[in-house]
Amino acid sequence: MLCAPPQPSAGITPYFDGQMNQIETMIGPGDPPPYNIINEQGQGKVLLVGDHASRVIPRALDNLGLDENLLEQHIAYDIGTRKLVHHLSQHLDAPAILAGYSRLVVDLNRSLEDPSVMPEVSDDTPIPGNQNMSVEHRNQRIHDFYTPYRKAIDTMLHAFRENGVVPAFISIHSFTPQMAGFVRPWHAGILWDKDPRIPVPLMANLRAHANGFNIGDNEPYSGKHPADYTIDHHAEASGIPHVSIEIRQDLVNTEAGAERWATILDDALRDILANPELYQVWQSI
Ligand SMILES: [Zn+2]
Repeated sequence: MLCAPPQPSAGITPYFDGQMNQIETMIGPGDPPPYNIINEQGQGKVLLVGDHASRVIPRALDNLGLDENLLEQHIAYDIGTRKLVHHLSQHLDAPAILAGYSRLVVDLNRSLEDPSVMPEVSDDTPIPGNQNMSVEHRNQRIHDFYTPYRKAIDTMLHAFRENGVVPAFISIHSFTPQMAGFVRPWHAGILWDKDPRIPVPLMANLRAHANGFNIGDNEPYSGKHPADYTIDHHAEASGIPHVSIEIRQDLVNTEAGAERWATILDDALRDILANPELYQVWQSI
């Protein structure tokens, strides 16, 4: 059931910071921060990111006018990825940055020029709270949710480089078993564009697994430009080694499944990440 959409100007809460500057934000008391960093001191030369790891809508946006059960479905977030990133972060001893809010608030894997960055419709479901937004309202969302996430990734990557490390960048997503009536045959998909250093051997290792996994090569989505904005913007542009990994959501929607797939990915990535030659800027793009 769809509820009445919030007023476009609603939901901006003025408050005063420590210097008594008035700040306006949609993030109110009880709302989470715009991102979480886990295992920040991890020693692995890898940064993990989960753009779609959260289904939280700030209270001020009143569920974007959506019924609660829709917010538990894939249109709101990538089911299972928060758990998977937590486990993989432990396996790789790598820091990770997770989105604090739903992609329906602002999609962190989109450029700001992309109309679906604040989708008016997602997978055929109208999003009332994203319709008829004022410029001020859109800018407030960018300020509160989008920019802090971008800056957190930049800061973390900068810290690696300050320490003389060219890190690897791994983005984690999940996909629905079916889309528009099509049953997707893959257990996981590897998304990539030009830099083969992680994706090509990773696909080979996963396909060689005893369970005979069906691994998509740029399926169910393509990682070719301009898709996969987070990878394009933070990794490909600077030539650091990278890959985007999509896992079918029913495989990681339980704690046991997430732990199992963290182990599978850790095993498949181990030799790749152990190669010191990986940690260089890619010169061929
Ligand atoms: Zn995703």
